[in-house]
Amino acid sequence: MTTTLRRWLNAILHRGLSHDTTPLPRRSDTFDHWLRDQREKADPVAWHVIDGLLDTYRLHADTGTPLNEHICTCRAIGECECYVEADRRAS
Ligand SMILES: [Zn+2]
Repeated sequence: MTTTLRRWLNAILHRGLSHDTTPLPRRSDTFDHWLRDQREKADPVAWHVIDGLLDTYRLHADTGTPLNEHICTCRAIGECECYVEADRRAS
């Protein structure tokens, strides 16, 4: 599909980058600060859980991926369903 046709379809169907108003996660935004504050107040076990969430949040921020979309960090087949699906489609 050509770029012009894709833009035309997006405009008619009200979708695409110009119509997506969902705020993307950003480093040092309000939620990033809130997670960091919660991590500092937490006991050692909860600290590691919150730190993992903060890492995931920042990965979404760094890659510009909305929070409702999956970022796969798996490196081996079987660690994640999406990785298995991609392998299945490739073969
Ligand atoms: Zn995955």
